[in-house]
Amino acid sequence: MAHSRLQLTDETVTGQVDLHCHSTASDGILSPEALVSRAKSAGVTLLALTDHDTVAGFAEAQVAAEKEGVTLLPGIELTACWGRRVVHIVGLNIDPASAAIEDAIEERDRLRHARAMEIAARMEKRGFAGALEGARQHAGDGVIGRPHFARWLVEAGHLPDEAKAFKRYLGAGKIGDVTVAWPDMADTVASIHAAGGAAVLAHPLKYGLTRIRLQSLLSEFQDVGGDAVEVVCGQQNPVQTREILALLERVGEARDPGGQLLASLGSDFHQPDQPWRALGCVRLPAGVEPVWNLWQTGATQDQ
Ligand code: AMP
Ligand code: MN
Ligand code: MN
Ligand code: MN
Repeated sequence: MAHSRLQLTDETVTGQVDLHCHSTASDGILSPEALVSRAKSAGVTLLALTDHDTVAGFAEAQVAAEKEGVTLLPGIELTACWGRRVVHIVGLNIDPASAAIEDAIEERDRLRHARAMEIAARMEKRGFAGALEGARQHAGDGVIGRPHFARWLVEAGHLPDEAKAFKRYLGAGKIGDVTVAWPDMADTVASIHAAGGAAVLAHPLKYGLTRIRLQSLLSEFQDVGGDAVEVVCGQQNPVQTREILALLERVGEARDPGGQLLASLGSDFHQPDQPWRALGCVRLPAGVEPVWNLWQTGATQDQ
C-alpha cells in the first residue's frame, strides 16, 4: 500500500458524510478553508475534497479540518475516457503526494491547457474576444475548466447565466465541447489504486447513457477494478436512486458473491447558490455497503 490510509471510527461515519465537492483549486468558488467551514456548519463529520484533476487544495483544507473537527479524506475527481465518452472517476483516501497521483495530474494539466486554448480559439472565431484571459482570470491558481469560460461569458454580459453558457457554447456537441484524449478509465482506476485510494464512478446518471450502456459502463468499471459507485449525487429523486441500485444488482448478479461494487455519495458542491448540491445534502439508502467500510477500524484490508 502506498500510504497508511486514514482509519475511521464509527462516530465519524454516523454523522453527515459528503465525499464529493469542489474548491477554488478547480471549479468551486469557495477556498478550501471556507469550504471546510461551510461543511462543518452543515453538520458534515466526514468530508472528501475532490477537485477536478488536482489535489492542490488539500493542505489548506486539512488545516481547516483539524481546526473545525471535521474528518477530511484526501480525494480527487479525475477526468477519464470510456471509449469515446468522458467519465469522472473519484479517488478517495488517496496519498496526495504519491507519484501516481502526481503523474495523473500532470498529464491532465497538459490536456486542460491545450483544451482551454482550443476553446478560446473557437470562441474568438465566434466573435468572443478575450476568452482565454477571461477564463484564466476566473480560474486563478486553480485548474482551468469549462465553468471558468462560462463565468467569463456571463461576466462579459454575453449570457445571463452559466447554465445558458453550457447550453449554447460549452455543453455536449457545442463549440466548447473539444474532444480530448483523457487517460482511459482502466488507467485512471490503476492510478488511484497505485496512490492507495478507492476508485469511485461519479454521478452515473449524468453521462446521458441508456440503461443498457450504463450497465456496460458499470460492469466494465468493475472489471478494471473499480471499487464503488456514487449511488447518491446531489439532490436526487428516490426513483433515480432505485434505478442505480437496480443496475448495481444486475451487474453484481453476473459475478461471484462478495464482488458487489460499494456505495458512495456526495453533493458535488461547487457554490453556495446551488441548493440542489448543498454540502451534506446526501444520505445513503438502507441496505447498501458504504465505501468507507474499506477504512473503518477493524475492517479487513488486503489491498
Ligand atoms: P470540465 O471539467 O472543464 O470539462 O468541466 C466540467 C464541469 O462543468 C462539471 O464538473 C460541472 O461543474 C460543469 N458543468 C458541466 N455541465 C454543466 C451544465 N450543463 N451547466 C453548468 N455547469 C456544468
Ligand atoms: Mn465541476
Ligand atoms: Mn463530475
Ligand atoms: Mn464533481
